[in-house]
Amino acid sequence: METKEIFLKCECSGCALSVEADMELPGDYNIGLWHHGIDFTRKFSWRKRLKLAWQLVRKGTLYKDCVVLSSESVVKLCWFIDETEAEYRKIADQKVFDRIMADNELKK
Ligand SMILES: [Zn+2]
Repeated sequence: METKEIFLKCECSGCALSVEADMELPGDYNIGLWHHGIDFTRKFSWRKRLKLAWQLVRKGTLYKDCVVLSSESVVKLCWFIDETEAEYRKIADQKVFDRIMADNELKK
């Protein structure tokens, strides 16, 4: 099974997003959310500290259901999807070409 994958770290350093494209099933993307907890060895800004404290007070837990990507990571993700979609189109075009060639062979 041929796959392509991109792995992007969250801005909190405690979780990540993985996107895997299966080249045998064009159009399918498997998206994984990875959570290892927040990196408490990192020094957070006051704004981030208040936001995390409020999250903990309000919901009783810290983020587990979202990944915050930097604009650089978003650009990498867009490039990955653009490139993969182009490869998917090539695979689909090749299948159509192969089918036409096979039909022409049958007509001979
Ligand atoms: Zn995170």
